[in-house]
Amino acid sequence: MQLLDPTLFREQCYINGFWQDADSGERLAVVNPANNEVVAHVPIMGESETKRAIEAAKVAQLSWRALTAQERSSKLKAWFMLLIAHQEDLALLMTTEQGKPLSEARGEVKYAASFIEWFAEEAKRVYGETIPGHQADKRLMVIKQAVGVAAAITPWNFPAAMITRKAAPALAAGCTMVVKPAPDTPLTALALAELAHRAGIPAGVFNVVTGDAVSIGKQLCMSPDVRKLSFTGSTPVGVTLMQQCAPTLKKMSLELGGNAPFIVFNDADIDAAVEGAMVAKYRNAGQTCVCANRLYIQEGIYDVFVEKFVAAVSKLKVGIGTEEGVTIGPLINGAAVDKVKHHLEDALAKGAQLIPTHNESDLGGNFIMPLILTHVDSRMLFATEETFGPLAPLFKFSDVDDVIHQANDTEFGLAAYFYGRDLSLIWKVAEALEYGMVGVNTGVISTEVAPFGGIKSSGLGREGSRHGIDEYLEMKYICMSV
Ligand code: ADP
Repeated sequence: MQLLDPTLFREQCYINGFWQDADSGERLAVVNPANNEVVAHVPIMGESETKRAIEAAKVAQLSWRALTAQERSSKLKAWFMLLIAHQEDLALLMTTEQGKPLSEARGEVKYAASFIEWFAEEAKRVYGETIPGHQADKRLMVIKQAVGVAAAITPWNFPAAMITRKAAPALAAGCTMVVKPAPDTPLTALALAELAHRAGIPAGVFNVVTGDAVSIGKQLCMSPDVRKLSFTGSTPVGVTLMQQCAPTLKKMSLELGGNAPFIVFNDADIDAAVEGAMVAKYRNAGQTCVCANRLYIQEGIYDVFVEKFVAAVSKLKVGIGTEEGVTIGPLINGAAVDKVKHHLEDALAKGAQLIPTHNESDLGGNFIMPLILTHVDSRMLFATEETFGPLAPLFKFSDVDDVIHQANDTEFGLAAYFYGRDLSLIWKVAEALEYGMVGVNTGVISTEVAPFGGIKSSGLGREGSRHGIDEYLEMKYICMSV
């Protein structure tokens, strides 16, 4: 990995403005999923280091929150500009540890930076309110203040954006933060810390601790000094974290699993639907929580859709993310590959049919060729579980109410998509889908300006948009007698 700026490659944690090793000196290998080569080692930190990071964040918060919003905003803007300036290096680091194609990694860096820019602006708009008094001598107002020290536990599928989507609103609001990145992708997180340092974000305001998830997680959850935890990851871990946070009654944001339906109605623009399905299904090799997990195609257009979809999927190029023209990289690790294969085998055993899309067989290792299945039904595992890989099951349906029922028949409620033209149908379906986000005639919904988040087992709270900063603010009502 040849970075233009080699000092972005960091193998130590960033706590209180200093680069530090684990007390034990132990280190964890970071592996390139494309070839399983070790590319770096990072500290295996645990309880004592996490406590120190929380303490640093607690001390730093006093002076960070005392800055004017304009001052915090300027530091965030400097951080944003550094991400953009180092987009190429950040993308290469990300592809190396995560596997996604370089073009997608560049896109993610831009997306990650957009949250910092957005919340640098929102920092200045934390408005309160005045309320007409309930008695003649009373003057009532509401101010908003930072919740305090915030913690973030983040996943490997978006190594940069899942951090900035939490850290940017936190810092904008006047909170300080301790981040625990996923063990698979710590290098991007550490590079972000290096850039925060260069941006002049003061010591203790943004800290990154790598290592033992369980003991770091416990400290972050149990510490009474941490007033907010934001987590993106799987539903079972989210539930555990919520239980661990209960004794200290923390404010929480949880962005958990999904099982997105993607519905195409008879009157849809089929080419547009195929294009949308390609992005919604195969971006990041199917490893995003808003990826289409189940595709429902109405019977009148089923055959045409399948034909066009198969043609589009056949053009995808699987390979190492740094190679020119590659559109699907490796999955993150062997466990991810096993899960996709398990879903495939389960479906085939229950009568599904696999449509060949590529002449080459699997490249082996963590690579999986895009898979399309027809003759699928609701007994198959992907109907209830998130596959998190490049497997597209194409369900056939006839009735609108029935497909709405099937789409909602899941414990999850993150993203849903549908394609159609009839306006009354569009409103009916958009309102009936039990999801936090609905894409209508589009397969791409994520942007820093809109509220991202789910309902049911997909989580709590929203990230991004003008609402995103509220997750890091408390309201204070002031009642004044005059
Ligand atoms: P995935 O299965 O996609 O890796 P996880 O929910 O296991 O999703 O991981 C998301 C993040 O949660 C990662 O940073 C991981 O290290 C962390 N994590 C996993 N288990 C725990 C735990 N018990 N306590 C705290 N963090 C955890």
